[in-house]
Amino acid sequence: MESSNTPGDNRKPVADFIRNIIAQDLKVNKNDSRVVTRFPPEPNGYLHIGHAKSICLNFSIALENKGGICHLRFDDTNPIKEEQEYIDAIKEDVRWLGFDWGEHEYYASDYFEKLYEYAVQLIKDGYAYVCDLSAEEIRGYRGTLTKPGKNSPYRTRLVEENLDLFERMRAGEFEDGSRVLRAKIDMASPNLNMRDPVMYRILRAQHHRTGNKWCIYPTYDFTHGQSDSIEGITHSICTLEFEDHRPLYDWFLDRLNIHHPQQIEFARLELTYTVMSKRKLLELVEEGHVSRWDDPRLPTISGLRRRGYTPEAIRNFCDRIGVAKSNSVVDIALLEHCIREDLNRRAPRVMAVLRPLRVVIDNYPADRAGLADQVEELDAENNPEDPGMGSRKVPFSRVIYIEQEDFREDPPKKFYRLAPGREVRLKHAYYIKCVRVVKDEQTGEVVELHCTYDPQTRGGWSSDGRKVMGTLHWVSAAHALEAEVRSYDHLFLKANPEDTKEGVDYKANLNPASLEKLTSCRVEPGLAGAAPGSRYQFLRQGYFCVDPDSSEGALIFNRTVGLRDSWAKIEKAPK
Ligand code: ATP
Ligand code: MG
Repeated sequence: MESSNTPGDNRKPVADFIRNIIAQDLKVNKNDSRVVTRFPPEPNGYLHIGHAKSICLNFSIALENKGGICHLRFDDTNPIKEEQEYIDAIKEDVRWLGFDWGEHEYYASDYFEKLYEYAVQLIKDGYAYVCDLSAEEIRGYRGTLTKPGKNSPYRTRLVEENLDLFERMRAGEFEDGSRVLRAKIDMASPNLNMRDPVMYRILRAQHHRTGNKWCIYPTYDFTHGQSDSIEGITHSICTLEFEDHRPLYDWFLDRLNIHHPQQIEFARLELTYTVMSKRKLLELVEEGHVSRWDDPRLPTISGLRRRGYTPEAIRNFCDRIGVAKSNSVVDIALLEHCIREDLNRRAPRVMAVLRPLRVVIDNYPADRAGLADQVEELDAENNPEDPGMGSRKVPFSRVIYIEQEDFREDPPKKFYRLAPGREVRLKHAYYIKCVRVVKDEQTGEVVELHCTYDPQTRGGWSSDGRKVMGTLHWVSAAHALEAEVRSYDHLFLKANPEDTKEGVDYKANLNPASLEKLTSCRVEPGLAGAAPGSRYQFLRQGYFCVDPDSSEGALIFNRTVGLRDSWAKIEKAPK
């Protein structure tokens, strides 16, 4: 696991309405002053940054309170969409974010027997019945927001008959979908969730944990609240869309007369220029709009990790956005600001040329007596923000590469980089002056520059006080390593991907240029063998991270984020 506790990660949690409720509960010794929270993912996809908000909230609250515990519970009630792969990925992501559930790993499927008993108890008490209406009929009977529903003709079945039918549902006597168990609540309730919701359905499907043991499965609504109760959760923190389900969860817990956790809802995280629902993320993966769940363009935790995000930056982001009661969309620039801030402090600086232009330094000592060209090892600081990170040696020789965009034959105003006759500084090296431009005869494209260097400017400083406007990064051609660099832009063209013409879905807003692959980049030789996951600042370019597809001979970098901080600008702007 990564080291935690970098500066800035030690912020004190800001009081919010959830922490205030918990503090109040502790004051009156509610729940014997215990705090037990949980993070309850359904293992039907990979976690995204919205889940990170919930993870940080639940685990941090447990950590902030003496003896507090946070459970990791898989709400695995739907055998059709769930897979072991997702469970493994979820655990990896929570751990990577820096949280530890210890022995408290639970599965709703472990409660299937208990839930069945609860259902039987509700039947016996006259609170549940077996209904033979088809799914479509049930929908038809449900009514609408403005119209009350109609009672099912099976609602008056006697307890004995219900018990018998429910047992036979479990025993596999009936076809899939032919019957359900429903709660007997109120078909006229203004809350649609209370109109005799389905508790159990018949479904012959292999469950990833219980195999073929069951052919009836509890619904999420009949499982979630009782699972919290069984685990002794004190504060069941969830997102706003469950506010309307709370009366139903309360109804089940009260009728069953079992431990009653307090449900508290908060606003889910939405980010600009991306989508956050697992259904849509799955669609993007399955239809090949992105490579996999860990595609660095996705807002998944694994995608962000692969892109070079640190757990500290994500935790810091979650702290900064805080929790609120009303939904809002967070600017993705804030997330980018958080990683930039963290990497600025920690990432070693290196030089990498993404679009190389060959530069020959004519007066640099060349091939002496048939031996190799002169090479100097120049000192380069690793991080100006942190002198403690020391320095390294960077080789300099007669042929180097600079960035194509750092040269203009006909420089516009305010272009302070290299141009014919102009002198610039090479970072950590020398002043060079462009004396000749070589072009491709056919295309007219600039293919090589000839420059002279001033030996009196070693280290990049002139002793006569002569100033230059621009400083360029570079690599020595003979020493540089070839690398592939993958640059990412927003996955969607619009801040709100759902903003589409009628009849067109969010995918119409996909950004066709969200991935740019550059294959003949050159990086300084010190990066040989850089381990996947290592993060660097490429001078003047941004932050980059070694991709797991990388190997000794084929370096691949992902651009985490560029250097320009649009969020800092937003913060500074007059309000
Ligand atoms: P999605 O809607 O993206 O498919 P979900 O809510 O179905 O997600 P779950 O696996 O049920 O995903 O979520 C686990 C926990 O994470 C829940 O408590 C849920 O409230 C929380 N959560 C999910 N999405 C967000 C979000 N965008 N912001 C904050 N919390 C979230
Ligand atoms: Mg869900």
